[in-house]
Amino acid sequence: MKSIVIHTQDSTYPVIVGEDAINELLGILKNLEPSKVLVVTDTNVDRLYSDFLIDKIRPTYTICKYVINSGEEAKSFDVFYDVQTFALKQQLDRKSVVIAFGGGVVGDLTGFVAATYMRGIPYIQVPTTLLAHDSAVGGKVAINHPEGKNMIGAFYQPKAVVYDSKFLKSLPVTELRSGFAEVIKHSLIKSESFYEFLVKEIQQLEDITSERLQRMILEGIQIKADVVTIDERELGLREILNFGHTLGHAVEAEAGYGKLSHGDCVAIGMLFATWLSNKLLQADLPYRELKTWFATIGFPVEVPDSYTNEQLIAKMVKDKKTKSNQIKMILLERIGETTSATFSKEELQSLLNE
Ligand code: NAD
Ligand code: ZN
Repeated sequence: MKSIVIHTQDSTYPVIVGEDAINELLGILKNLEPSKVLVVTDTNVDRLYSDFLIDKIRPTYTICKYVINSGEEAKSFDVFYDVQTFALKQQLDRKSVVIAFGGGVVGDLTGFVAATYMRGIPYIQVPTTLLAHDSAVGGKVAINHPEGKNMIGAFYQPKAVVYDSKFLKSLPVTELRSGFAEVIKHSLIKSESFYEFLVKEIQQLEDITSERLQRMILEGIQIKADVVTIDERELGLREILNFGHTLGHAVEAEAGYGKLSHGDCVAIGMLFATWLSNKLLQADLPYRELKTWFATIGFPVEVPDSYTNEQLIAKMVKDKKTKSNQIKMILLERIGETTSATFSKEELQSLLNE
């Protein structure tokens, strides 16, 4: 078992990673002395693991559980309201603790519930997807608005992240791949040696070993933690985490959320950003190697034919990170070192056309 400590402006918390990390949960709860514990989870995780989790804490604490439907639709005002109502009816108070038990959807929604219930009560992230190595760390919590994804939210750090890798064994391979894209992103923006480990050791996700999975989670989280420690509120450095996401988000929005996985879209975006870095910065990045590797893993490597570049650029301009019609992209000087460049719609259009 390994532990990483995250430091932000007004909090410090551990991220515990390992096959039996869940055993640390009781100790963390003990320090928080909760009056009650609310576990929020989704239908899939509930079916697989709720009993296991609750059996661990029930002897010591009063527990209630709220199960949301699995899927992105749960990050809605309606579900947010329902969880708050449930918490009020269960008489949770400011000494109660909420546990977000699931993937990024459960984490984002539950974190936002905790951030706003009685002006904020403590919560713990217990992630169950690989993507959650990204979403459970850093304190960005949110729900979606019909006008845009993650538009209503807060920066609210958990008291701890307990990342037990055995939960990942039941994760469908499409979900594993989606999370793996963010692992690759973390390596490309910050660590050449980590990238080299990934390319060399991971050619297939189906039979990944537990040791490799844990290393991916730990190194990915460490990189995210380093960035978030310096820039908790996305004022500067944190934008490098957006590598691959400018085009990625546009492809995802164009497909309709949930049609292509987030990671698949980010993979397409990372390939484009890599190609662009070589073209504009004369960076000597292994674009071909990356493309072949992505294809081997099962990522799509081209923007689907049915999307026109005009449609994609319209989506990029709509992105909340776009300012005054200038589209900003994170590029790579080399593996592990980022820079950024801004483009007008017309410039990007002609680059996409190439
Ligand atoms: P998810 O939570 O929807 O989980 C994916 C699917 O896997 C779901 O169907 C879920 O029920 C199922 N599942 C979860 N754990 C399982 C397990 N152990 N075994 C079997 N099935 C399991 O999606 P996700 O990919 O984890 O997260 C995506 C969300 O994360 C998006 O809403 C995105 O906006 C958000 N996100 C947030 C941040 C952040 O910084 N807050 C960063 C990245 C992504
Ligand atoms: Zn992402």
